[in-house]
Amino acid sequence: MKIIDCVIIGSGPAGYSAAIYLARYNIKHLIYTGDIPGGQLINTTIVDNYPGFSKGILGINLMNEMYKQAIKYGTIVKYNKIIKVFFLKKKKLHYLYTNNKKKIITKTVIIATGSLPKTLKIKSLNNFLGYGISYCATCDGMIFKNKNVAVIGGGNKALEESILLSKICKKVYLIIRNNKFKAYKILINIINKIKNIKILFNYIVIKFLGNKKLKYINLFNKIKNKIKKKKVSGVFIAIGNYPNTSIFKNKIKMDKNGYIITKNKTTKTNIPGIFAAGDVQDKIYKQAITSAGSGCMAAFDVEKYLYYNKYK
Ligand SMILES: Cc1cc2nc3c(=O)[nH]c(=O)nc-3n(C[C@H](O)[C@H](O)[C@H](O)COP(=O)(O)OP(=O)(O)OC[C@H]3O[C@@H](n4cnc5c(N)ncnc54)[C@H](O)[C@@H]3O)c2cc1C
Repeated sequence: MKIIDCVIIGSGPAGYSAAIYLARYNIKHLIYTGDIPGGQLINTTIVDNYPGFSKGILGINLMNEMYKQAIKYGTIVKYNKIIKVFFLKKKKLHYLYTNNKKKIITKTVIIATGSLPKTLKIKSLNNFLGYGISYCATCDGMIFKNKNVAVIGGGNKALEESILLSKICKKVYLIIRNNKFKAYKILINIINKIKNIKILFNYIVIKFLGNKKLKYINLFNKIKNKIKKKKVSGVFIAIGNYPNTSIFKNKIKMDKNGYIITKNKTTKTNIPGIFAAGDVQDKIYKQAITSAGSGCMAAFDVEKYLYYNKYK
């Protein structure tokens, strides 16, 4: 059976950046797209913070450009997903199984399976994704300059997003489903001092309303058993992310939240020959640019690993 030099699992910014660099190194590789070819950015409208696009670029177009750049240099794209992995440390070979019943043997793997933001089960939510509802204040905060917005969540991410938005927006409603924060004390202290942040404890959002663009949210207070309507142009859902690592459980070192652990500012994992890039190993930055950057690093690390193994 043919042994491949590298398989990239995942086709977001991390996967495609790794592919572009591997192709330029002339390392034979495949990229498996999984269920979402192009990754998370496919589900957004304009990306305004990716360098090089001064007018912004649609998420889908940005990913299409990355795809075209990779195949131009020889990347082979497979529109399937990996469903099982066996990392064989001693043999220095790794076996991957796909959902179309293929077995692949590879010397190295770049895991770039990303993450997915946790969401809310509210019917009207999908109507306003990219039209008022966002999962990232760094990405979309400026759209709502001088407007009223809401942030949903009571953890560190929600508080950080609220602090950032308070510098851009007129008013920030911080909506917390119970009566306490689940965040660092320092963030709570800061939040309590910011005048344009209004904290709404014991509220949950029950409906998003508007005509194409989001205009209002309906909130329900569990204690008072009352519904209240708030006028907001934007809502940021900040209740966490799931790294896509279920197929790697017990096969590779992860932290308690399922993020893959990489070593010493590289993309190396605890298994020689297995590398990780993008959101799947990053619980802090989670941006297209940081994912692309670590995809590039993974290709560097793969190249070194393959080259030095050749002379062992
Ligand atoms: C709505 C939204 C808007 C955003 N807007 C911005 C923005 O404006 N600017 C910005 O910088 N960032 C933005 N982000 C964040 C950004 O999208 C992510 O940080 C980035 O996409 C992460 O890239 P990644 O390559 O690590 O993974 P992802 O983009 O998550 O891609 C993961 C890939 O892995 C694949 N995969 C998963 N499991 C398997 C498997 N078993 N086998 C094969 N493939 C698999 C998936 O199909 C997918 O292709 C946004 C995120 C969201 C959700």
